[in-house]
Amino acid sequence: MDTSKLSFSSARENLLSKQITAVELYHAFLKKIKDSADLNIFLEVFEESALAKAQEVDQKVKAGTAGKLAGMVISIKDNICYAGHSVSASSRILEKFESLYSATVVDRLLGEDAIIIGRTNCDEFAMGSSNENSFFGAVKNPIDQEYVPGGSSGGAAASVAANLCMAALGSDTGGSIRQPASFTGTLGLKPTYGRVSRHGLIAYASSFDQIGPICKSVEEAALILEVIAGSDEYDSTLSNREVPSYSKKLNQEGKKKIAYLDCYVEHEGINAEVKNRTLEIIEKLKEDGHQVDRIEFDLLDQLVPIYYILTTAEASSNLARYDGIHFGYRSENAHDLKSTYVKSRTEGFGPEVKRRIMLGTYVLSAGYYDSYYGKAQKLRRMVREKTRSILADYDFILSPTTPHGAFKLEEQVDDPIKMYLEDIFTVQANIVGIPAISLPLGKLSNGLPFGIQFMADLFKEQELLAFSTEVVNKG
Ligand code: GLN
Repeated sequence: MDTSKLSFSSARENLLSKQITAVELYHAFLKKIKDSADLNIFLEVFEESALAKAQEVDQKVKAGTAGKLAGMVISIKDNICYAGHSVSASSRILEKFESLYSATVVDRLLGEDAIIIGRTNCDEFAMGSSNENSFFGAVKNPIDQEYVPGGSSGGAAASVAANLCMAALGSDTGGSIRQPASFTGTLGLKPTYGRVSRHGLIAYASSFDQIGPICKSVEEAALILEVIAGSDEYDSTLSNREVPSYSKKLNQEGKKKIAYLDCYVEHEGINAEVKNRTLEIIEKLKEDGHQVDRIEFDLLDQLVPIYYILTTAEASSNLARYDGIHFGYRSENAHDLKSTYVKSRTEGFGPEVKRRIMLGTYVLSAGYYDSYYGKAQKLRRMVREKTRSILADYDFILSPTTPHGAFKLEEQVDDPIKMYLEDIFTVQANIVGIPAISLPLGKLSNGLPFGIQFMADLFKEQELLAFSTEVVNKG
């Protein structure tokens, strides 16, 4: 079986009409994963539980009780907990840690009969834009192995692009679903903050984090979202709003009003080809009868600083729990309580995580709180108000997902500021909490993929997905 031809819809059809079995699907993907080991995408394949699930799905198909996702082989990012399975956030500090419970999203996927095939490599604690911050080494971009797949959900996006599974769950705090989707030619959706439960997601920055799908089609994204979204007693930040049947409402009706922000598309750091492709897409949308307007937005330069002040502050608090005692790694060189903390954390965390803990502690410290953390909170509110006022007039905000295509492995590792600027177009959605999607809209002249981003107002996933269907279909 050629896994590149196994889209979810075709696999499901064949499964339900008994042309193939779930066990055969599982073996096809398992073989492909093993053959692609050099890409360093999977940290672990859940051979036992995935096979058991496949067998269960086959029984259910026979009994006519198979769930909505029967036939879907899906990977989870290594920061999503699955009971009885290891999870490490690609960090040494969680070495040998096994989760005692499953994330809500995992329970919901399994409840609809998805086969969770394994956990994918990512940047340590989801901090990074290239997957090079993983304790387990970088992931290679399957489109061209000299390039990064993006981050932090680099393994997740690469697992889909390399046909090692049909879909993946990633997490997005500042772009970690959309940027790797754009670098690998896949589709990535970050839902509204409060749409998908974070219970069982290893926290990076709790007021920004969201779990979402990376896959190949809008239909798959819609289907996965409708399964994982919705209220959960374990996450009090979740909305109780009803979850629409997104996958049944993909017909785009009527013409839309779309804004593009001047400073995004005209940004000095944007690659010329990315800019031209974006302008071409704008023209195409106009030809199709949509209204597309250039809007002034003067807060672009503030976005990355707001993001890095607030997320590092939250991370410094969230990561305080890794003390060498409660979870995972404990230094062998420690001789008392204090040295257990200090040595375990020093040896357990990688350089980028340490940098962010220190930054976060600094911006929260008594003497600097008002000038950094307090100020960033105020600016977050301004960005939120400004963005939502644009979205009161417009259905969507369009931009390239990233200022350029994938870059080469090792090209930027030693330049954290440059790496932080990778997030310039994606962090706005997380600062505001709105949904955003990256659609694969072709290739750049070097053969690497190119993604375009649409943001919508809070809880407008249905509109966003329906419109994305039209954009993708019309190319
Ligand atoms: N690249 C961003 C960062 O390094 C985004 C990470 C994320 O969304 N998890 O923080």
